[in-house]
Amino acid sequence: MYSEHTLEKIREIVDGCIGDAVPFCEAACPMHADVRGYVGLIADGKYKDAIRLIREKIFLPGVLGRICSHPCEKKCRRGDIGVQPMAIAALKRFASEFDAPEDWDMTKDAHTGKKVAVVGAGPAGAQAALDLARLGHSVTVFDRNAEPGGILRYGIPEYRLPRGVIDFEYEYLKKMGVNFRMNCEVGKDAAFSDLRGDFDAILIAVGSQKSVVLPIPGNDLEGVIPALDLLREVSVSREFPLHPSEGAKRAVVIGGGNVAMDAARTLRRLGAEDVHLFCLESPEEMLANPWEIEEAVAEGVEIHAGWGPVAIAGGKWVERVTFRRCVSVFDEKGAFAPCYDDNMTTEILTDNVVFAVGQTTDFSFAGNTVKAGPDGRAEADPDTLQTSALNVFAAGDAVSRPWLAVEAMAMGRKAANSIDRYLKGQDLREGRDFTKEGSYETKLEVGIEGEERVDRVATRQLKAKERVRSFDEFDHGLSEEQALKEALRCLKCECLHCVKDCLLLSDYCHIPKDLFRDIMEGRNQNLLIPYSCNMCGRCESVCPKDFSMGDRFHDMRKELVKQGAAPLKGHDPIRVHQRLGFSWFFNVTVPARGAKTAKRVFFPGCSLSSYNPGAVGSVFRCLRERLEGVGAVLKCCGKPLKALGMTDDFQNRFAAVKRELDRLGAEEVIVACQSCYATFKQYDEGRRVRSLWSLFREIGVPEEAKGIGKDTGITLAIHDSCVTRDVPEIHDGVRFILKELGYEVEELERSRENTECCGSGGMIAHVNPSLAKRIMRRRAGEAESDYVATYCASCRASMVKGRKKGLHVLDLMFGGSWKGRPTPPIDSSLASWVKRWKTKRKLRGQL
Ligand SMILES: Cc1cc2nc3c(=O)[nH]c(=O)nc-3n(C[C@H](O)[C@H](O)[C@H](O)COP(=O)(O)OP(=O)(O)OC[C@H]3O[C@@H](n4cnc5c(N)ncnc54)[C@H](O)[C@@H]3O)c2cc1C
Ligand code: SF4
Ligand code: SF4
Ligand code: SF4
Repeated sequence: MYSEHTLEKIREIVDGCIGDAVPFCEAACPMHADVRGYVGLIADGKYKDAIRLIREKIFLPGVLGRICSHPCEKKCRRGDIGVQPMAIAALKRFASEFDAPEDWDMTKDAHTGKKVAVVGAGPAGAQAALDLARLGHSVTVFDRNAEPGGILRYGIPEYRLPRGVIDFEYEYLKKMGVNFRMNCEVGKDAAFSDLRGDFDAILIAVGSQKSVVLPIPGNDLEGVIPALDLLREVSVSREFPLHPSEGAKRAVVIGGGNVAMDAARTLRRLGAEDVHLFCLESPEEMLANPWEIEEAVAEGVEIHAGWGPVAIAGGKWVERVTFRRCVSVFDEKGAFAPCYDDNMTTEILTDNVVFAVGQTTDFSFAGNTVKAGPDGRAEADPDTLQTSALNVFAAGDAVSRPWLAVEAMAMGRKAANSIDRYLKGQDLREGRDFTKEGSYETKLEVGIEGEERVDRVATRQLKAKERVRSFDEFDHGLSEEQALKEALRCLKCECLHCVKDCLLLSDYCHIPKDLFRDIMEGRNQNLLIPYSCNMCGRCESVCPKDFSMGDRFHDMRKELVKQGAAPLKGHDPIRVHQRLGFSWFFNVTVPARGAKTAKRVFFPGCSLSSYNPGAVGSVFRCLRERLEGVGAVLKCCGKPLKALGMTDDFQNRFAAVKRELDRLGAEEVIVACQSCYATFKQYDEGRRVRSLWSLFREIGVPEEAKGIGKDTGITLAIHDSCVTRDVPEIHDGVRFILKELGYEVEELERSRENTECCGSGGMIAHVNPSLAKRIMRRRAGEAESDYVATYCASCRASMVKGRKKGLHVLDLMFGGSWKGRPTPPIDSSLASWVKRWKTKRKLRGQL
C-alpha cells in the first residue's frame, strides 16, 4: 500500500520504539518479575492481586522477599535520585503475607507421559521441577537432605529466613504433583545409571555443597570449621560444638562474602563474643552485600579487610592465626591474582577458625557421563544447559559460581525450557532469545529531571543487641502503612509518553510500534488513522527517540492522495474552501502607499480574515503607520492542501502566492497566522518571514490599547499554537503584548515548546469530529481561567468549542475592553465567507 521509502521510515519506529521495553527492575530480575506491576498494585491497596502477579513468575515470594540480594534494586531508576532505590524485595515480602494456597494457580498442561528426574531440591531444581510439572511432565526430585530447600534451608541462617516460610512455599510444588524422594543421595541411595534408565531426562541441580578449606599449615587442627558445615548444623539444631574449653568464645572467620557474614553472625548467636572476620579484599571490594556487612558490624563482628591467612597454629586445638597484608586482589584484567606484602603480618589469638572462601561441587555420582569444567562444576552449554549427555542437563550453583538464589531459579527455568523441548523432540534453540533468559539491560530510557528525592522506607528490624540473643527473624519487614508509602515512590518506569499525550495514538494503539507494524504489514488499513493526526508535533517533542508519528501519518496521507484513496469524503468542505479561498472574489493585493510595489507585505491568511476583518484592517493601518513600504496580500497559503497530503495542489497554490509577492517586489512578509508562518519559513527561503507577534515587540502596541485589560478582572490563559512549538520569539511576543495590554495571564502547564494541539490541526474535525471534540475539551480544560487567549483564529474557535471564552490577541488589542462583554461566538460557514470578503474590503479601503 505504501512505498518502500515510507515503509522504511515506519520500520524505524517499529524497530526503535521502546514503548514495550520493560522497566529496569524487571529486566534486571533474573526471573523477570513484573515489579512495576505489583508495586503499583500494592500502592493501590490491592495486595491479593499483587501477590498473584508476583506468583506468575516467582513461586518463592516470601523467601526471596527476605533473602534476595535484589539485582533489580541495583538498576532501579529511583536509585538515581539520591541513591535510594525502591525497596523491591521488602515490598515483595509484604505482598507475600497475603499469599494463600487457595489462590495458587494449579493449571497444568495435559500429561505428556514423560518422566524427569531432578537431583537437588534447592531453588534451581525446585523451579525446574515446577515448570516441568506445569508443562505436563511427571517430575521426581531426589535430595539427600531430609527437607527440600537446599542452601535456603541448610545454609542461610534462620534469623534471615524462618523455615516455616520455606515449608509454606515449597508446598506448592507438592500440590502441583511434584514427587519428592528426600533422604535419597544419588550415587549412594540411588544409582545415577538407574535414573538414566528410569527417566527420560535428568537435571543435575546439586548446588555447591562443600566449603573450601585453604591449604595452609594448621588447617587440620581441631576448631577449623568449613562454613557450610557450621551453617548446616546450626540450621538443623541451632547448635554447634565450638571450642570445648570453658570461656573459649573467640572465633575467626576467613572470607569476605555473604557466606562469611552468615558464619560470623551465626557465631555471635552461638555465644562467641570475639568474632573477627578477615578477608583479602579492601572494604570497597568485599563481595558481601553492603547491608550484610553493616548488619554484621552492628552485631559486633570486627572486620579486618586486606589480609590473607598464612598459617594456623595450636596444639590439638586452634590457638592463633597469622595473616599477611594483601596489597591487591585482582590483576589488570580483573582476574583473581592476590599479591601480598610478606613484611606486614598480624597474628590473632582464637579458638575457632571458619573458612568461608568458596565452595566446590560434587557430582561424581554421574561418573563420566557429565564432564566437569575447569572450576570443577558441571560443564553444560551456557544457553541450553544441556551437558555432553543429551538427556542430562545441569543448572544452578552446580554449573555456575555460587551466587544468588534467584539466579539459580532462572537457570532452573532455562533448563526446564530445554528439557521440555528435548522431550518433545524440538530444537533446543529455535525461537529463543537467550539474551533475555536471566538479567539483561533494558532499552528503556526514562528521564528523572524534576523528580524529587523521597527517602526509602526502612524495614522494621530488632536492635542488634537484642537480635544476637536468638535465631529468631530479626527483620520484620514493612507494615501496611510503610508498604503503601514505599510503593508510592515507584516511578512506574515506562516510555509511552506519546501515547499518554496523544488521544489519537491512545485511541488506536497501546504501543506505537505495534500500530506501525500492523500498518507496515498491511493488517491495519484504516485510513481514518493517518487522517486523525493533528500534525501537532507533540509526539516528536516527547519521544526520547525523536520519532515523529505525525510525519509518518503525513507521508501516508501523501501516498494515499497519489493512489486516489484520499482525501476522504469528509474532506469535501476543505476542497470547496480552497477553491473559494483562491478565487479573485476573496483575494486582494495591496501595494505600499503611493507605489506599485511593497517592500513589506502583510499576509493575514484565511482564518483570521474570516474571523475579524476589523482587526485585520487595524493591523494593516498600524503597520503602515510604523513601518515603511507596507502592502498586503490576502490569499490562502495552501496549508490545508498540504495537511491533507495534496502536495502537488499545495505547491501550485503556494507558487501563486510567491509570484504575487515577487510581483510586489516584497523582501519581507509579515504573517499573522502560525500555519502561514511555518509554510513561508519552509517554502519561501529567499524572503524574510516575520511573525506579527514578535514584530509588535519591536514596533510597540497601539497607544490606545495599552493598559486596556487593567481592572477588567479578566485573567487570560495563554494557548500557544502547536505550530509555533519551536519559535520562542512568537511566545515572547504574545506575552509582551498581553502585558502591555495590562491583562493578568495564566501560563498553562503545557505551554510554549511543550504546548499541545487545540484540536483543529491536521483537518481532523472533518473526518473524526468526536476525537477533535475530545482534544478541544482536554486542551481547554487545562485552563483554570474562563478566558483563553490565542493568536490563531482556529485555535480560538477550538477553545470556544472546549467551553471557554476564547479571545484572539487582536480582539484584545483592537476590540476595546472585554469587561462584562460576551466573547465572540463561532461563525457559520456563510458568516465566515462574508467576513473574509469584508476583510478584502478593509484592506482595499486603504489603497
Ligand atoms: C551460606 C549461604 C548464604 C547465601 N545467602 C544468599 C542470600 O542471602 N541471597 C541469595 O540470593 N543467595 C544466597 N546464597 C546463594 C544461594 O543460596 C544459592 O545460589 C542457591 O541456593 C543455589 O541453588 P541450587 O539449587 O543450585 O543449589 P542448592 O541450594 O545448593 O541445592 C542443592 C541441593 O542438592 C542436593 N544434593 C547435592 N548432592 C546431592 C546428591 N548427590 N543427591 C541428592 N541430592 C543432592 C543438596 O542436598 C541440596 O538440597 C547463599 C548461599 C550460601 C551458601
Ligand atoms: S515516545 Fe512513543 S514512539 Fe517514542 S519510544 Fe516512547 S513509546 Fe515509542
Ligand atoms: S522506579 Fe519502579 S518501575 Fe522504575 S525501576 Fe524502580 S521499581 Fe522499577
Ligand atoms: S502529530 Fe500530534 S496528533 Fe499526530 S500523532 Fe503526533 S502527537 Fe498525535
